[in-house]
Amino acid sequence: MTLRKPCPKGQCRQCWSHAYDREIHRRQDRSKDCAECVDHMQNGCPSDQIQK
Ligand SMILES: [Zn+2]
Ligand SMILES: [Zn+2]
Repeated sequence: MTLRKPCPKGQCRQCWSHAYDREIHRRQDRSKDCAECVDHMQNGCPSDQIQK
């Protein structure tokens, strides 16, 4: 069962989906951090990913 919540306004769609859809990270190489999440943590979330 997947518990997915729609991304609320003002939240980053990528960070939201990665936080709530664990399948995304489960499919990745566990020995590495998620490159997309690391990018957002270091550089901030790009405005085009923010839910309007
Ligand atoms: Zn991620
Ligand atoms: Zn983000």
